[in-house]
Amino acid sequence: MNSIHGNPENIPHILVLGVGGTIAGLASDPANPTAYQSGQVGIETLLAKIQESIPDAVKIVSQQLANIDSRDLSEDLLTLIGNTVKESLQNPAVKGVVITHGTDTIEETGFFLHATCGRLAEKLGKRLVLVGAMLPANAPQADGPANLLDALKWTSTAPENCPGGVFAVFAGKVCLARDLAKRHSSALNAPLMDSPNSPVGLINPSWLSRVKAIQAASVEDLPIPEVWPWVDILTSHAGARGQTVEALVGAGVQGLVLAGTGLGGFHKTWLEPLKKAQMQGIALVRTSRTGAGATVASKDELSCELAGVLSAPRARIALQLALNAEKDHKANPKSLTWQDFFARMAVLPGFR
Ligand code: ASP
Repeated sequence: MNSIHGNPENIPHILVLGVGGTIAGLASDPANPTAYQSGQVGIETLLAKIQESIPDAVKIVSQQLANIDSRDLSEDLLTLIGNTVKESLQNPAVKGVVITHGTDTIEETGFFLHATCGRLAEKLGKRLVLVGAMLPANAPQADGPANLLDALKWTSTAPENCPGGVFAVFAGKVCLARDLAKRHSSALNAPLMDSPNSPVGLINPSWLSRVKAIQAASVEDLPIPEVWPWVDILTSHAGARGQTVEALVGAGVQGLVLAGTGLGGFHKTWLEPLKKAQMQGIALVRTSRTGAGATVASKDELSCELAGVLSAPRARIALQLALNAEKDHKANPKSLTWQDFFARMAVLPGFR
């Protein structure tokens, strides 16, 4: 039996946090698994289904934080997840944490947790592992049970065999959570690992050195916002209009992530409204809408922060965390700017 009877504070265990997603979804007709609703099954039921395959030595405590379709992920829920993880990692009885999550926005949560809890997990030698599924829990070929088992396996790997940190497990592979993103609407391996990865259980030394390099660049965990700044993503496209920028600025947006074309350029109709926005103190960051590769300083006249290889959704979280950290840091004599914090998260050259 893996569940703990008695006080979990005295028994080393893995904490499994349920947030929802397809892994907890149900199809009205299991023979047609694409018509389903996310976030229907509780975390205890998901664990009960794999009970027989979990080694007896692995003790588990579960907690339902939410049960949503992750397309509805809110910033308040991110704060709750972040605070719960931070507190749990510091509990000596908790050896690692698994989070079951929807794949639609796993990219954002992965990046957020890496930036806010990654150093702590690394320092304590504990693993935090995000996991999801592409098929609902009652589909005949459901992929959730195997993914969840893999996540438990990776979380309970002996610390001497793998560093602590924030990871994601999917379809038999593991990578840093900040590198997992959904890149296909329906394929079983839709969440792709944008970095070196490794089969779960087989630890690849060259992959581990890259994991360590990224972790070293994180410098320190960023504070978890209680109140999130409003940052939106603007995608450049044929026929893009300056009024779109003006409408957001007029409504009070605090930061804009520009998902530009190609190397990160954008439609010329945006140039004047963006310059004005910048003069008003709105934080601007450039990414590329292509889905891969780095953004490069553009030849247009707008000088703004580049997001390196960060996708627009990751850059958005990074900008929110950076703006929040700058606010928190104001009292510090060596006060860092949002650009400094952003550069650390995007692992840009020359970050402070
Ligand atoms: N829409 C689902 C969600 O993000 C998709 C999934 O879990 O794969 O919750």
